[in-house]
Amino acid sequence: MELQERLNEVRSHIAAAERQAGKATGSVQLVAVSKTFDADQIRPAISAGQRVFGENRVQESQGKWPELKAETPDIELHLIGPLQSNKAAEAVALFDVIETIDREKIARTIADEMKRQGKTLRLYVQVNTGLEPQKAGIAPDDTADFVDFCRKELGLSVEGLMCIPPADENPGPHFALLAKLAKQAGVEKLSMGMSSDYETAVAFGATSVRVGSAIFGAR
Ligand SMILES: *Cc1c(COP(=O)(O)O)cnc(C)c1O
Repeated sequence: MELQERLNEVRSHIAAAERQAGKATGSVQLVAVSKTFDADQIRPAISAGQRVFGENRVQESQGKWPELKAETPDIELHLIGPLQSNKAAEAVALFDVIETIDREKIARTIADEMKRQGKTLRLYVQVNTGLEPQKAGIAPDDTADFVDFCRKELGLSVEGLMCIPPADENPGPHFALLAKLAKQAGVEKLSMGMSSDYETAVAFGATSVRVGSAIFGAR
C-alpha cells in the first residue's frame, strides 16, 4: 500500500471514531509521527495535505525539518520524545509544540529559552500514567500541582496532557485517567493514542492522536 492510502485509511478510522464518540468530524488532530523517516519519505504525506507532524529526537529533526518547513511554511511540528536541557535552545527554535514537559528543571529551561528567542510554544505535560520507572512523565498525583506551577510561576501556556500507556496493558484505563487528570488540572487537550490504539483513545476523549507506523510503515 502507498503512504497516501495508509494516511487516508487512518483518517477514515479517526472520522469513524469521532462519529461514534459524538464528536465533530475533523475535531481530533492527527499528529503524523515521522521519526526514523527521512525528508523524501515525509514529502508524500505533506503532498497529501498532512500538516501536523511529530518527532521524538531533536537532533534527528534538525536534519530534515528546517528544509521541509521552508518548503511548506504552515507545518506544525510537535516534539513527542524526552527533552534534555542541553537541547532546549534547538528544540524551541525548531518545534511549535512540546508535548513532553515533565519536570521543574526542563519547564524552567524552556521558559527561559522562549523568552530569549521571543517565541511562544504550546506545551503539554507528559504524565507517566503507569508509573513505569523507565518512562518519562510526571506522576498522576503530582499533575495538577505541576500544571499550576508551570502556569503561575513560569507563565507557560500548558494546553494539554500527554501519555504513553504501558505497552503490555489495556490502554483504556490509562486514557480515562489522563482525561480525569486534565479536568482536575484545568487543561483542555489530550494527546493520547498511537497506531495500535488511536480509535480507543478517541473514544476516551483524545483531542489529538500520534500515529506513526500505520502511516509511514514499520520502523
Ligand atoms: C513513536 C511514537 C508514536 C507513534 O507510534 P506508532 O506505534 O508508530 O504509531 C507515538 N508517540 C510517541 C511518544 C512515540 O515515540
